[in-house]
Amino acid sequence: MRPDIIRKAIDGLPVAPNLLDYQAAREAFSWDLVRAELGMAADAPVNIARLAVDRHASGPRAARTAFRFLPALGEPRSLSFAELARATDRFANVLRGLGVGKGDRLYVLAGRVPELYVAVLGALKNGTVVSPLFSAFGPDPIATRIRIGECKVLVTTAGLYRRKVAPIRDQLPSLQHVLLLDQDDGELPPGTCALAELMAAASDSFALEDTGPEDPALLHFTSGTTGTPKGAIHVHEAALMHFATGRYALDLHPDDLFWCTADPGWVTGMSYGILAPLLHGVTSVVDEADFDAERWYRILQDQQVSVWYTAPTAIRMLMKAGPELRQGYRFPQLRFVASVGEPLNPEAVWWGQEVLGLPIHDNWWQTETGGIMIANLPALDIKPGSMGKPLPGVAALIVSRGDGDEIAEVAADDVVGELALRGRWPSLFRGYLGQEERYRKCFSGELYLTGDLARRDGDGYFWFVGRSDDVIKSAGHLIGPFEVESVLLEHPAVAEAGVIGKPDETVGEMVKAFVSLKPGFEAGETLRRELLGHARKRLGAAVAPKEIAFLATLPRTRSGKIMRRLLKARELGLPEGDTSTLEAGS
Ligand code: AMP
Repeated sequence: MRPDIIRKAIDGLPVAPNLLDYQAAREAFSWDLVRAELGMAADAPVNIARLAVDRHASGPRAARTAFRFLPALGEPRSLSFAELARATDRFANVLRGLGVGKGDRLYVLAGRVPELYVAVLGALKNGTVVSPLFSAFGPDPIATRIRIGECKVLVTTAGLYRRKVAPIRDQLPSLQHVLLLDQDDGELPPGTCALAELMAAASDSFALEDTGPEDPALLHFTSGTTGTPKGAIHVHEAALMHFATGRYALDLHPDDLFWCTADPGWVTGMSYGILAPLLHGVTSVVDEADFDAERWYRILQDQQVSVWYTAPTAIRMLMKAGPELRQGYRFPQLRFVASVGEPLNPEAVWWGQEVLGLPIHDNWWQTETGGIMIANLPALDIKPGSMGKPLPGVAALIVSRGDGDEIAEVAADDVVGELALRGRWPSLFRGYLGQEERYRKCFSGELYLTGDLARRDGDGYFWFVGRSDDVIKSAGHLIGPFEVESVLLEHPAVAEAGVIGKPDETVGEMVKAFVSLKPGFEAGETLRRELLGHARKRLGAAVAPKEIAFLATLPRTRSGKIMRRLLKARELGLPEGDTSTLEAGS
């Protein structure tokens, strides 16, 4: 039988970890020290892109590769820190030339291509707020997010524009500029510009916009159980957190070759796929292709990846591909593997140890926290299945909610409650755009309430238990059931819709919808396919349900809310729990 702990021997590690003494590092930590290290004075101007790019471009790391992009086919393309600095200056000048300025919002909707990285960092230099959209979104999630954020500029590809934005462009009055980073058949769609032409005409020297620590920099959409998606606002000072966590949780060292597999359409791809490695002057490899087990092993080998940050779904897909595939590849440089986004089962941690030769270090955070909060650290023993311990600068605790919504700390170990974080830190979100009340509800005094259920054991390790709401986590992506239900309800046959996350061995949870039909419509395979197609077309493959079941009626509370919890319990054959608020007959 496997032990329930993986012991770490520091002596045996190829590189001394940045954090050797957990307690001492926590006690010595202060944000002022991090600020000083980045050469920042308190309250002085701060710009994430200056810290991430320009700071290295004028120093000894100027010629070092910042990004090495691996296209699906063809030769890798590299950008040094100096080249990245010039390209992002050009992009910032393009924006300024278009009259796009500080506080305006720019969205990117594209695959992991160099132009996306240049646009993100160039916009930040211009003080323009950046919001990434996932390219697998369908027109509905795109339109909703553009409307909420009053997006002024969209950077995308001609193909994505034609398929997903052009048909709804007239419903998006805020959208003034669409910059296409490629041209498919040579003809520009009406109302768009060719980014390459604007870049060629722009200067590669830009006088940075004056941004302060509290100026908004990033807008990341996340999902709740009800209502529209929430746009979490992050400020320029968040860079302090990306830097500190890159050091402690990812153990970045100056000569590392880092690979974060997350798409920049999600918060991990932005904070750790772009910002944290750049802040450390570290080279990142970016794979432009979709997941492929063999390709991934080849990348680890050929690119000599030393630090790898990936996700449980990807690890489970590698596990499925079988250990034999891995035997054909050698990656002796790989020294640290971390994972985030969904629960990492102990089996996956052990798979790392046995098949990769390295355990997988789970860590926990969420869009709102802006950076890693709890992590398994290189020098600490791992308890497989645990998220690890709070990082220096982070105070995590378990709380319980009383009847009147009062919050009390749970001091005892091993008691399940809501995970909360005490205090304020640089990357904590500063608001949900336009939704003050929803934002306020996340806080109680000096506590930020995460909405996750967890417990802390006697050694101070935190264990994820579940979500306190109905939000679905599929392949690491947070999906709001309401967004899916709304689209199903727009179909003429659908009377009611309830959407749940159904446990799935590979992707964690899979989106399953239950619908009841309006009179005159008949449940059957043809309608099921039609509904699946309708949802996929509107929502995109990443969000649409994979399964749809028909029910005569959906269980509702007496106040009329669909009881997703009950749908889930019934689906899984679990006890129905408290049904005292259930409407008779449902
Ligand atoms: P997002 O805001 O999309 O990054 O999703 C954040 C949510 O993902 C958290 O609130 C958790 O529910 C879940 N999550 C993130 N990391 C972990 C982890 N290591 N273990 C379990 N759940 C996680």
